[in-house]
Parts: sequence; structure tokens; C-alpha cells
Amino acid sequence: MKVFISVDMEGISGLVRWPDVSSHGIDFKRNRRLMTLDANAAVAGAFAGGATEVVVEENHGVEDVCVLLIDEVDARCRVIRGAGRGGSTTMAGLKSDCAVVLLIGHHARAGSRPGIMAHTISWEGFRLVSLHGQPIGEPDFFAIRAGELGVPVGMVSGDQVVAEQVRELSPLAECVIVKHALSNQAADCLAPARARELIAAGAERAVRAARNGTFKPYRAVATPYVFDVALKSPMNDAMRSNLNALKDFEIVSEGLVRVTAPDMDLGFRRVAYLGYANRPGVLKY
Ligand SMILES: [Zn+2]
Repeated sequence: MKVFISVDMEGISGLVRWPDVSSHGIDFKRNRRLMTLDANAAVAGAFAGGATEVVVEENHGVEDVCVLLIDEVDARCRVIRGAGRGGSTTMAGLKSDCAVVLLIGHHARAGSRPGIMAHTISWEGFRLVSLHGQPIGEPDFFAIRAGELGVPVGMVSGDQVVAEQVRELSPLAECVIVKHALSNQAADCLAPARARELIAAGAERAVRAARNGTFKPYRAVATPYVFDVALKSPMNDAMRSNLNALKDFEIVSEGLVRVTAPDMDLGFRRVAYLGYANRPGVLKY
């Protein structure tokens, strides 16, 4: 039984503010360890629940998506990391042979208040990302892509806001709330050591439940996908000329781009592309 674990950083135990998850933060090095330990707790729980194979994929977009302390990762799993992966950016390892998806250290969608470091893909660039008019976050991208492949989401760890948002998509998913968000950069946190115990126990229950067929893949969204990305600041000339050259991107206004995609593999790639399309000549996504 193969288990896919996506690990992000904003929802990791004890982390609350942007410098906690940015290379320049005073605790970044320690926090990479906290991220690794939360991931390891999920890996251990997954194996205890009956996994025979665990793939961990990094989702945190700093340092070219290489943030886990690779030499401290549980020896039983594999890790997908680095920028420029094929497929849907940070879901390269998510295939139809996975039995369940566990989202570790994930965060609430853009526009959530409270919600620790709430954003969708690009905090600097995107004010809001909607799909068919409904605001979505990164867990939605994962749940929809997994659903296309027939794989359910069985767990999330993070704050209470992302937990609630994942429950909208997968009502029976295990939610391990490691911190209670008080705003976008303040939370009432469990000690990471305690949080890891809960993550391991939650992952074990989730994998066991997946083996019993408890979770259903999320398939509630019509295709083709139509995303509206509201930008935080009006687009520059480089972005305008990049987007004008690409048929899947429509400039609705200076602050709004519409993106269409036949599936979430391309959908995630295309929306992520908008995060760096403000540089001249960037036409590959
Ligand atoms: Zn992140």
C-alpha cells in the first residue's frame, strides 16, 4: 500500500510567521528540522497503519523546494524535491497507484482570516485564487488532482482553518490541529513534541481507514477548470506581454488573470506560472 505525503512548511508545528519559513529567518535552520520531524512523524504513522511504501514530496517554495533535512528523513521513505519537476509542479509523485494522500504542514487558502500564513501558491503575487468562482487553496489543488487519479485525501496537519477547509473536500479526513490560528501570523501552538505524537497517531488512523475504504476521492468539480487569479499588484509590462503570447491565459483586467486547464496537472502548473510570469520572456510553464 503506497502512501503519498505532501509536506509544506507554513502548517508545521510551532511555526507562525513568514520569517519562520523564509531562508533569512533567524530560526529557519531549526525550523527545517521541525518540518523534517513532522514529516517523519507522518511517515512513522503511515507505516504503523499498514503502508508498505511512502513517498514524501516537498511543497515549500523556498530554496528551490529543498527544505527538508534530507539526511534526517526516515530511512524507509523516498523524497521528491527540487524545482522543475514534471507534472503538476509539487505533485510529481502523486500517481494512481497511491492509496491515500496525507497533507502535512499545509495552510489555509488566500483570503482566510485567521489562518497562519494563509495564501494560495504565491503569497507575494496572489490576493485570491478562485476555481469556477469559489476561492481555493493548495489543499484543493491536491484534493482535485488526487481525485482525478482516484486517490482520496485522508489527513491534514496544520491550523484549525486549513483543517476546516480540507474537511469541505474530504469530510472524514483526519485533522491534526497543531496550532490554533489567532490571526495570520499568531497562533496558540502545541509543543512540537506533542504535535508530532498526534501527527503520528493521525497518520496511522488515516492509513488504516484508507485500507478500509473510508475515504472517497474528491470529484466534485466540472472540467475544464476556469481559474481566476486576483493579483496583489497590477501586472507589469513583462507579464502583460508574456500572457498575451499564451492562449490559456486571459487578461481580464490589470489585476485579474483567467486561466483555463483541462486537468489539474496543467491547472496547477499554469496557476503557479503566474507567480513568476512578471519577468520578461518567461513563457514556459
Ligand atoms: Zn509553503
